[in-house]
Amino acid sequence: MPMDVRLLYHTPDPQRSIAAAARLCYSPVGAADLLESMSDEAVRRVLKTVISSGHTSTLEHASYTFAIDGVSRAMTHQLVRHRLASYNQQSQRYVAYDSEPVFVVPPSVAADPVARAAFDDACATAFEAYRAQLDAGVPAEDARYLLPNAMETKIVVTMNVRELLHFFELRCCRRAQWEIREVALAMLALAEPTAPYIFMDAGASCRRGPCGEGKMTCGDPYPKAPKRD
Ligand SMILES: Cc1cc2nc3c(=O)[nH]c(=O)nc-3n(C[C@H](O)[C@H](O)[C@H](O)COP(=O)(O)OP(=O)(O)OC[C@H]3O[C@@H](n4cnc5c(N)ncnc54)[C@H](O)[C@@H]3O)c2cc1C
Repeated sequence: MPMDVRLLYHTPDPQRSIAAAARLCYSPVGAADLLESMSDEAVRRVLKTVISSGHTSTLEHASYTFAIDGVSRAMTHQLVRHRLASYNQQSQRYVAYDSEPVFVVPPSVAADPVARAAFDDACATAFEAYRAQLDAGVPAEDARYLLPNAMETKIVVTMNVRELLHFFELRCCRRAQWEIREVALAMLALAEPTAPYIFMDAGASCRRGPCGEGKMTCGDPYPKAPKRD
């Protein structure tokens, strides 16, 4: 199956939730009152202040959960390096593959018939060896050592907004590996409409200022994001 990224759910009214938590720091009334009583204008004002001042712990009060299917183990290995998130992934211990396996083929390989043939061959050989181990009674948790990084998998991830923004900065960047970048761009496209004022300048650092990659820059910056009014 091709890559499929879905936003399963998120904190209701994420912008208002974050603004209420932030406003509480300076308010005689509680967050429940603020959640109801703040005007939309006040929500924007507070969000602008917390984001521009770096008071970003307040962004941890809203979380997003995504289902990511049809991606490679090479991708999920990079994803789970982001520690301030929660994950569950299809297990290669408890799910033994007996049907036709699916392998994610990188575009560079797909574009080159010779590389593609060698790639398909290597995946098929590895899978055959895996199946032979299972048939010989080796448990799936051990037979899986033979499965390639290209093996397709599914993962669910929950991140709060502070971590999401950090993740988008690193992984929407053109220097990020293509598959995790596609996942990050899809996640951003899903999150942005739910909290447009927060995510309006999310993504690679070049959207907001100079490239964070320094000498390693790709030299092809994204267009600058609009400034928050
Ligand atoms: C282009 C690119 C190339 C990469 N190449 C490599 C590579 O060659 N080899 C490799 O091993 N990895 C590589 N990585 C992965 C990278 O090193 C990070 O592990 C990964 O991006 C997670 O980032 P993070 O640690 O900032 O974020 P998260 O784990 O998401 O954490 C978010 C932030 O929380 C704070 N934080 C989290 N945990 C701690 C802690 N224990 N102590 C203090 N502060 C903490 C930090 O401020 C951190 O930035 C690469 C990443 C990118 C984007």
